[in-house]
Amino acid sequence: EIRGIKKELGIDEEPKLTVNSLEVLRKRYLLKNDKGENIETPAQMFRRVASAIASADRKYGSDVKRAEESFFRSMSKLEFLPNSPTLFNAGTGTNFAMSACYVLPVEDSLEGIFTTLKNMALIEQTGGGVGFDFSRLRPSGDIVRSTKGVASGPVSFMRIFDTATDVIKSGGKRRGAMMAVLRVDHPDILEFITSKSKQNILTNFNISVAATDKFMNAVEKGEDYDLINPRTGKIVKKLNASEVWDKMMENAWQSGDPGVVFIDEINRHNPTPRAGKIEATNPCGEQPLLPYESCNLGSINLSRMITRTGELNWEKIRDAIHNSVHFLDNVIDVNPYPLEEIDIITRLNRKIGLGVMGFADLLIRMNIPYDSNDALDLGEKIAAFFEKEAVNASEELAMQRGIFPNFSGSIWSDKSEGRRNATVTTIAPTGTISIIAGCSSGIEPLFAVAFMRHVLGGARLFEINPLFERIAKDRGFYSVVLMEKIAKYGTIQNIKEIPEDVRRIFVTAHDISPQWHVKMQAAFQKHTENAVSKTVNLPQNSTPEDIEKIYMMAYKLKCKGVTVYRYGSKGEQVLNLGLDK
Ligand code: ADP
Repeated sequence: EIRGIKKELGIDEEPKLTVNSLEVLRKRYLLKNDKGENIETPAQMFRRVASAIASADRKYGSDVKRAEESFFRSMSKLEFLPNSPTLFNAGTGTNFAMSACYVLPVEDSLEGIFTTLKNMALIEQTGGGVGFDFSRLRPSGDIVRSTKGVASGPVSFMRIFDTATDVIKSGGKRRGAMMAVLRVDHPDILEFITSKSKQNILTNFNISVAATDKFMNAVEKGEDYDLINPRTGKIVKKLNASEVWDKMMENAWQSGDPGVVFIDEINRHNPTPRAGKIEATNPCGEQPLLPYESCNLGSINLSRMITRTGELNWEKIRDAIHNSVHFLDNVIDVNPYPLEEIDIITRLNRKIGLGVMGFADLLIRMNIPYDSNDALDLGEKIAAFFEKEAVNASEELAMQRGIFPNFSGSIWSDKSEGRRNATVTTIAPTGTISIIAGCSSGIEPLFAVAFMRHVLGGARLFEINPLFERIAKDRGFYSVVLMEKIAKYGTIQNIKEIPEDVRRIFVTAHDISPQWHVKMQAAFQKHTENAVSKTVNLPQNSTPEDIEKIYMMAYKLKCKGVTVYRYGSKGEQVLNLGLDK
């Protein structure tokens, strides 16, 4: 009855949220008044976002109200969520942009560097993350003609960006996240590789070495390769590729950094080579972009795409993909870009990144262990379906709204009649939106079966995986003592009172061998136009040689990059997930 009355009054049903979800929404997403009190409910937030994003349809003469309803429904049923900045900023009238991902160029001049710093600040204010390639900066010790001085090099400038980010903290919503890339042939590469080896330095940065094919070949042959001064284009030194590679592995072993981006593989898939070369990715690596390009992401919650009989509901997924592509394409039109340069290139390419979350939950519900060939097959099948249907949706939009302006001259121009978007798919980490949706993040395995979650402001939330809790109760082995024991260990693999088949299904990130992590990343990458966010977890007692095998495997399997996390090796992490030991 209440439902009927609400409907008559035009009041939306509130979504069914977990305690953690509500906590996160209240703290950071729901609008607040001057006193810091929430002035909207989750349903009102989804309505605000749906209405702001649907308004783009007006321009194309399509049914705005219908679009708004389907956007609202998909979000409030937690079937689809856009990246955080869209939830933060859409329809608030703040003029803050709605994309999660940016890449800014860094020019080799004081003026250029500090312009980029300012631009970074403007982006961080909106909750977006920025990637930079510092390779154009002259190396340390090089001359500075105007002052007759000595250049201090990329790493010293990275410190300024890091400090500025500390101060900005995205208006208290989230601390900033940045990616620093340096080409492996830059003369300061060794300093860069070790730049995060001490604790609490450059904490707002993930760093990645841009490894070229030439370098990877030299590593395999144990040969020397050239370092080039970007200012002069001259070879200044030779290094042994294997030695540099080993240094990278040692440091990745010690601190998780540097990761690697396989920059030539990325550029082989650059959809608009005539518009420029890709030099960097966004902070978590899933979105390679041209200088000044931005991209907005969105993710479909696979755990909500299952039929009553426990099968994947492909029809429902198809509808969700078409609806989400429509949504993300609209964001491009209504997005108030922080800079004119970003506005221009973003609208020329119209990149969007649709992906998935809740993959691990899906596997559990389908009784498939994450580290199995069945899981790889399913992952690849899902990625292929997403790519195919997202491209279909983009082609349909192109017919109604026009192709993306850089289409001719793009790699699609002889493969497609016309697309609305230069890229359509990306696998994001979904660090926060998966908490809102109450599902496992991205394509990651469960982090733990029960754990303490840290959120901004020092609060900690106790969490038991709801699927596990239900099975434990159904099968009669649930007890509070057991749950506490699990939270302490994180893993259930050695807890004998839990049935063997349950343990096999509830494998966590650290139970799974690193090779399976890479294989899953590669399975999704095979059918993803942008890149795949994935952390390869390694046990604490693994060696730099183990990491070497993983990085090489990722290269051979045509991943676009790779990041590892050896248990216990990182102090504080950029993203706010963490095991409490
Ligand atoms: P969310 O779940 O909040 O939408 P994701 O965890 O999926 O975000 O991350 C997607 C991208 O959003 C990252 O690669 C990065 O570009 C950006 N991002 C994530 N967290 C932050 C942060 N704390 N500050 C700035 N940008 C961020």
